[in-house]
Amino acid sequence: MVEILTDDEFEMMKESGKILQEVFKTLRDELKPGMSTHDVDKIAYGIIRSHDAIPSFLNFGQPPFPGTICASVNEAVVHGIPRKSTVLNDGDILSVDVGAILNGYHSDACRTYLIGDVAPEVKDLVKRTEESFFVGLELAKAGNRTGDIGEAIAKYCEGFGYGVVRELTGHGIGTSMHQDPDVPNYGKAGHGYKLKKGMAICIEPMITLGSRAIEMLGDEWTIVTRDGKPASHYENTILITENGPYMTTYDYEEGF
Ligand code: MG
Repeated sequence: MVEILTDDEFEMMKESGKILQEVFKTLRDELKPGMSTHDVDKIAYGIIRSHDAIPSFLNFGQPPFPGTICASVNEAVVHGIPRKSTVLNDGDILSVDVGAILNGYHSDACRTYLIGDVAPEVKDLVKRTEESFFVGLELAKAGNRTGDIGEAIAKYCEGFGYGVVRELTGHGIGTSMHQDPDVPNYGKAGHGYKLKKGMAICIEPMITLGSRAIEMLGDEWTIVTRDGKPASHYENTILITENGPYMTTYDYEEGF
């Protein structure tokens, strides 16, 4: 089912999204080599709870996800479990995917952070993954289709020789975290679900430096690249308004 939100509900979505903005900016300032992904998780948990919001990933799914954030390091694409034993090293990249529920409204977003001095080709991957999101965002307008977004993201990334993960997609969001429609990072312009004013969606390119083939680890959550090359992920929650797309989880003033 595709949910159509009212203007009042859009305001609730914005309040929820602001919490994730705070998580991302705090982490941007605090992440450093030597921290564990469990340390990062604790920071995100503290911020979300300080707003009386609920971390939506915690205990989600089966087996229940044990973290507030998905902490995916280097070859981990998504759904990495935060652990005391996973310590960030100089040169790593860390994607932090996080969700919050405030007054019943969900937000979901991701940033990939550079830890210390990262190899130029990996830095480029992170930068272009983010750019591909904005290429897709431009097309997130009422009347356009999910295929318009997907085709544009795939074209942009494949132009650099990157892999575009297909098994996982963006999604509708609102009073539940994952809902229709799927918002794939590939597709055909003019095809897919037609966006309407009042929808909220997540666009979330998952892009690999090598092959797009992925596999799941034995923890039943962490998705890694099969070739062990790094992957990057970027996501915001987006409202489809009459004036175009509006990102609730992005600080427009700071550009982050
Ligand atoms: Mg998402």
